[in-house]
Amino acid sequence: MGIVLFENKKTCCGCSACASICPKGAIEMKPDDQGFIYPVVDSNLCVSCGACKKVCAYQNENSLHEPVRAYAAVNRKQEQLAKSASGGVFAAVATYFLESGGVVFGASLDIRNGQSIPHLIGIENIEQLERIQGSKYVQSAVEDTYKQARQKLSEGRKVLFSGTPCQIAGLYGYLKKDYNNLWTIDVICHGVPNAKFFNDYLGVEAKKRGGVPIGYSFRDKKRGWGMNARLDLRRPSGGEKSIYIPARLTSYNTLFLDGDIYRENCYECPYAHKERVADMTIGDFWGIEREHPELLKQDAFDERKGISCILANTEKGVELCKKITDRIWLSESTYDKIARKNGQLSHPSVQSSRRKIIMELYEKAGYDGVEKWFHKKYRKQIIVHSIYNAIPRKVRVALKSIIKN
Ligand SMILES: Cc1cc2nc3c(=O)[nH]c(=O)nc-3n(C[C@H](O)[C@H](O)[C@H](O)COP(=O)(O)OP(=O)(O)OC[C@H]3O[C@@H](n4cnc5c(N)ncnc54)[C@H](O)[C@@H]3O)c2cc1C
Repeated sequence: MGIVLFENKKTCCGCSACASICPKGAIEMKPDDQGFIYPVVDSNLCVSCGACKKVCAYQNENSLHEPVRAYAAVNRKQEQLAKSASGGVFAAVATYFLESGGVVFGASLDIRNGQSIPHLIGIENIEQLERIQGSKYVQSAVEDTYKQARQKLSEGRKVLFSGTPCQIAGLYGYLKKDYNNLWTIDVICHGVPNAKFFNDYLGVEAKKRGGVPIGYSFRDKKRGWGMNARLDLRRPSGGEKSIYIPARLTSYNTLFLDGDIYRENCYECPYAHKERVADMTIGDFWGIEREHPELLKQDAFDERKGISCILANTEKGVELCKKITDRIWLSESTYDKIARKNGQLSHPSVQSSRRKIIMELYEKAGYDGVEKWFHKKYRKQIIVHSIYNAIPRKVRVALKSIIKN
């Protein structure tokens, strides 16, 4: 009989700290019937040493920090800003580390033979930065990045580790000690769907559009800062094409934004509050037009290009902000201003009654079943959003301000 790692799926975030620490290699991360990964113990290999339970962030106390400073921020480099989901703070911090000989860990979405692989990777040169820029709205596998980070830290290298709050808590649990040469960033996170579900969506979408996926961006800024996506395909004839996908016109993006397809533990996330796990928290500065209208009068803070929020949660985080002032436009804000339109800073996402229907449908009928259900259930929304998206942005903005007044 091997060790019992957790009693309830709501208490496992799939960070794989347990699998990373196991001295016998007895724990493997495996998908359940709905595609969510959980640690599975091989009772033949397990010696019940309990190392796995000691590193589990859900079963041990985490060090949490109240934000010390809060900012609105935008990357000064236009190329980095354009490839980032929000204001490009992550790229600015990562560049600082890479230029000073550091190693940076972050999420990459690799697509091989039409199959997507969302996972954390470590990079050591600026040419690779693009891979870990941009939001991937799907759970990224930690794989052996905790081990790699520990190795780099013990070599005395500066390490920047970024990910979701639970991945950062998992890293601290795994490392078990403080390192002066480690800095961490967590994203404000409203929850993660699983990699299999996303991959199946990608297959259905690509088939419908006629091609094989070669790239996917969850946040394409072609029509401004928002939640619209881009799918890159190889045509059967051999050429390539890119398709711009407005968020509310596809099943995956809609179900993601409505919080209908996350891991079970996300709905009770122990990190969705003011006290943060990482040295620095980054997110979108939603609601900036109400909180800081004065900033939008400056060219640097452009709503069409994206604006980030930063919470500097530790002295390390505060120092880091100072180190990158030549790389970003920075303006003081407050936690309250940032949290007002970012619910994940005060409570976890709420689970809807739709989640059960969708996930059971996925189990029985695959993503095709989910797609059919979506098009039936959301018919009206799709029509309204198709019309909305056909209206040029300038006209939309004018209409909005007329309606407001
Ligand atoms: C699943 C998820 C949910 C989010 N929900 C919110 C939200 O509700 N409100 C909000 O304000 N912001 C949210 N964000 C953060 C937001 O989308 C941007 O990532 C953030 O603002 C950083 O933007 P940037 O322009 O500085 O950097 P970018 O270059 O856009 O982002 C890169 C950073 O995001 C990390 N990252 C991207 N995808 C993943 C992933 N799958 N797993 C782990 N780390 C990842 C990278 O490691 C890197 O640190 C979420 C991000 C993710 C991944």
